[in-house]
Amino acid sequence: MSKVVLITGASRGIGRATAILLATQGWSVGVNYASNAAAAETTAREVEASGGKACLVQANVANEAEVSAMFDTVERMLGPLEALVNNAGVVAPSAPLADMSVERMRSVFDVNVLGAFLCAREAARRMSTDRGGKGGAIVNVSSAAARLGSPNEYIDYAASKGAIDTMTIGLAKELGPRGVRVNAVRPGLIETEIHASGGQPGRAARLGATAPLGRAGHADEIAAAIVWLLSDAASYTTGALLDVTGGR
Ligand code: NAP
Repeated sequence: MSKVVLITGASRGIGRATAILLATQGWSVGVNYASNAAAAETTAREVEASGGKACLVQANVANEAEVSAMFDTVERMLGPLEALVNNAGVVAPSAPLADMSVERMRSVFDVNVLGAFLCAREAARRMSTDRGGKGGAIVNVSSAAARLGSPNEYIDYAASKGAIDTMTIGLAKELGPRGVRVNAVRPGLIETEIHASGGQPGRAARLGATAPLGRAGHADEIAAAIVWLLSDAASYTTGALLDVTGGR
């Protein structure tokens, strides 16, 4: 039987690229999205065309009841979970902290921090060997912003990813003895729609050119790191924060 992974925010960008790459390796993929059903359906079709099974599941990761129902659906349709890619994330338009509204900060922390915690908690409950799970692996999608700080753009986003790094380190220690590895990938500037959603469609190309490797990265290049961390090739890696930034 194929292994089962749930990827949050898999309708596009890094989540979609990861879903397709895992499918080529025989994984069954829970494809989560928030609102873009057409894009998520495209991911699911591509997963199936790549040899994997797909289960499409709409849920807001910041909503506790929806997260729990999402995990139930994926396990019912595909089988017991062996991996979570905690990938859903948002930015807001660039602004200095002095000009940020509380609503904006709350929504960034809700999705990026609370959402990731709710999904990691649900995965811990289902995958830990001391709770009847098969063990497995979690990859949290953090950001190089966690160590760069994103001044004048989005300190709230950067700090939300700092929280993800800390959660990765602590949860790796909690779950190591329970058969679950927990790691984070910290992408640099990657060509996806997230930059347009923050009001800067050309941001990755513009700033990517200043990275030591001289360009922005592609979603496939992040997917490759995530897939490695989920694989048996990374069997002794846990609590790691893996920068995939072109040297930035
Ligand atoms: P993206 O193209 O904007 O895709 C974001 C995904 O998250 C979409 O599938 C979206 O679903 C989903 N999503 C948003 N809010 C959600 C919610 N409340 N519940 C469930 N799903 C939700 O972004 P991306 O660039 O691929 O980013 C993926 C991850 O990488 C994020 O955590 C981001 O912070 C991180 N990252 C990206 C970069 C970069 O340069 N691109 C750099 C560092 C880190 P819908 O389509 O339904 O809206």
